Amino acid sequence: MATVSKRMVLHFPRRILDRPIVSRLVKDYNLDFNILKASVTPDEEGVMVLELTGKREDFDKGVRYLTETGVRIQSLSQDVSRNEERCTHCGVCVTICPTAAFKLDPKTRRVKFYGEKCLACGVCIKACPPRAMELHF
Ligand code: SF4
Ligand code: SF4
Repeated sequence: MATVSKRMVLHFPRRILDRPIVSRLVKDYNLDFNILKASVTPDEEGVMVLELTGKREDFDKGVRYLTETGVRIQSLSQDVSRNEERCTHCGVCVTICPTAAFKLDPKTRRVKFYGEKCLACGVCIKACPPRAMELHF
């Protein structure tokens, strides 16, 4: 049977943050996972970027299990950009981005956005005070 391996962003609502959801993917669904990044946003939602690998049938069942427990799975087919005119270089996005797509330049005190690192999880869109981060479908 074909093996699938996909990168995805999982959003865990606060009420299920303490449940061993990801470990059940291994035990009950024979899937392997590799956590690329995990963080908790200021509104206490858990965000995890992971690569999930397994047989197609197990993979589909595992994804169904995630959805049923309340995990939101983010599609990576979206594109995020920064409206340069709006960004005030406040630095809020630097600490919350799960893939470290923002870096503060210590000399200029300006925040650089490395779009190629972005996995379109959407966390910075909600968190950016002047709404400089934009999601395009
Ligand atoms: S949070 Fe928004 S305004 Fe602040 S540095 Fe990041 S993109 Fe710029
Ligand atoms: S959407 Fe924002 S927070 Fe999420 S990976 Fe991209 S730059 Fe980082």
